[in-house]
Amino acid sequence: MRTQRRLEYLKAIGVDLWVPRAPVHAPAAAAPAAGAPAVREGEASLEARWEALRAEVLHCQRCPLHLTRTQGVFGVGPRRSDWLVVGEAPGAEEDRRGEPFVGQAGQLLDAMLRAIGLDRRQNVYIANILKSRPPGNRDPRPEEVAACLPYLKRQIELLQPKLILAVGRIAAQNLLGTDSPLGRLRGQVHYFGELNTPVVVTYHPAYLLRTPADKRKAWEDLKFARNVFQQLTQVTDGHRP
Ligand code: URA
Repeated sequence: MRTQRRLEYLKAIGVDLWVPRAPVHAPAAAAPAAGAPAVREGEASLEARWEALRAEVLHCQRCPLHLTRTQGVFGVGPRRSDWLVVGEAPGAEEDRRGEPFVGQAGQLLDAMLRAIGLDRRQNVYIANILKSRPPGNRDPRPEEVAACLPYLKRQIELLQPKLILAVGRIAAQNLLGTDSPLGRLRGQVHYFGELNTPVVVTYHPAYLLRTPADKRKAWEDLKFARNVFQQLTQVTDGHRP
């Protein structure tokens, strides 16, 4: 990314001091050209599993939130992304449009992600702990999380991201199964699930809109996540088969 554009993104998220580094994000591998039939079949069945899961989420009635939501909000982004961002739950705008992080907080999230070379249309998948909006944007209840978390786990199984960025306390605590405060979860690498997927934690963009003084700390988290990703891709060669 050109330095000028990166500076503009950082300005947009309220961080005006930036120490330039070489871009480190390895773009998600492009869809492979037509290959052997077995490869194509594998991809078709992966796509079918994504679509089946999506249909399940959109029709889900596992908790009472289905009575008050407009629609389920499944997730957005390429299904071969190396990065997964996990948020809390859809808000009003997300509930209306059926896509995560499309309100004001979503605009800040997009700017934060662009600052480290990520874009939901190209190389990052975005999903929430809850797929249905809690009325009045209240915190998710434990029974709602218990009902909904299996969907996110299945998304993670299908996506197999190299790195998960958990934004906000609710996402971080529920993904990691801990009560630790966000401040203690930041700045270290955690691991999720059987594949031990690395997880980095940062502030929720809605919190940053209310507390702009912490945007600088969020930028530290993003640089940390980017460095972790860089180290991972150096070890694993940076590309999917
Ligand atoms: N906040 C979230 O955590 N997720 C969204 O999708 C929107 C706002």
